[in-house]
Amino acid sequence: MSLALNSKLIHGGVDGDETTGAVNIPVYQTSTYKQDGLGENRGWEYSRTGNPTRDALEKLIAELEGGKYGLAFASGLAAINTVLSLFKSGDKLIVSDNIYGGTFRILDNVFSNFGITYKIVDTSDLAQVEAAIDEEVKAIYVESPANPLLTVTDIEAVSKISRQYGKLLIVDNTFLTPYLQRPIELGADIVIHSGTKYLGGHSDTVSGMVVVNDKAIADRLYYLQNAIGGVLAPWDSFLVIRGIKTLGVRMDRHVANAGKIADWLENSGYVSRVYYPGLKSDPGYEVQKKQADGAGAMISFVLDEKYDYKKFFKSLKLITLAESLGGVESLVCHPASMTHAAIPVEIRKEVGIVDELIRFSVGIEDADDLIADLEQAIKASAR
Ligand SMILES: *Cc1c(COP(=O)(O)O)cnc(C)c1O
Repeated sequence: MSLALNSKLIHGGVDGDETTGAVNIPVYQTSTYKQDGLGENRGWEYSRTGNPTRDALEKLIAELEGGKYGLAFASGLAAINTVLSLFKSGDKLIVSDNIYGGTFRILDNVFSNFGITYKIVDTSDLAQVEAAIDEEVKAIYVESPANPLLTVTDIEAVSKISRQYGKLLIVDNTFLTPYLQRPIELGADIVIHSGTKYLGGHSDTVSGMVVVNDKAIADRLYYLQNAIGGVLAPWDSFLVIRGIKTLGVRMDRHVANAGKIADWLENSGYVSRVYYPGLKSDPGYEVQKKQADGAGAMISFVLDEKYDYKKFFKSLKLITLAESLGGVESLVCHPASMTHAAIPVEIRKEVGIVDELIRFSVGIEDADDLIADLEQAIKASAR
């Protein structure tokens, strides 16, 4: 029976436990498996190579993303590390100009040491993407909406360019999750997640995931997953599966709250700019509407200079100052000194990651309480 996404969230992948009837997949907390004879195993050999709890999550995320093959890793960056290991010395990647700071860091200061280079472009501008393509380029790496300025890239349009030139398109789908956006359906070859965020959803576990459709890429990634070894542990796999069961109801509330708060911020007079692709005034609004089922729940805004941003962070009572995003609780962060500190200051300023920029991961608390907290903290920070 073919299931709608809301049913797949609960019953996709491996639905429960065949042997006992347990409605939840057990946590197979084991490193190894008995072999019945030389060369005779029951499908499992060693838990870096394969573990039934991790396997259940891998099948689930693949199904949700509309891909054939899923892989789960110990963190989003372990997933990214494994994907980048597809490339070799001399290869080049085209990368969105505002991406997760850690993605920039691993390219700039780890893979660059192995001769893999990158070129930063504004991937929301298709002409820039096409102009950056040359022989050395092997892939285009996109986040949409991107971190922290929520820049929207037209994934389908970029995938046409990547296909035309025979390059891979890699999309980090962390901010929207398959509930709101499915890049493979839009033409992406590789989808990456930090499962630490909305998929886990409760700020209680770190994880990463990759989904692909192509058998040859999948085989190489499974090989690299085992060879590099950054796999997700059974207990964390269980936690992410549990998180995904409520993804739909959480995302609905996240998005509704974010819409309300973005509207309020835009009309509040407290901020000089709001970045949220759900706002009609946002440059990404039309593309976002076309390619996703919602604008997500990440908002960035620039506090007016009448207010002291350091005091603002100190004055919040309900909303927590912390790294990370996508949990049920609302979090704010200061990209310039926290998530994006690894990006050189010139590049930060150029793309708009100014000191007054505040990134807000809107949680699922009562929206009016969140607005009240923002307002009291902004008023308390008046210079
Ligand atoms: C957090 C994040 C990552 C890295 O994931 P970890 O789980 O922290 O390693 C990658 N991409 C995006 C968009 C993120 O928000």
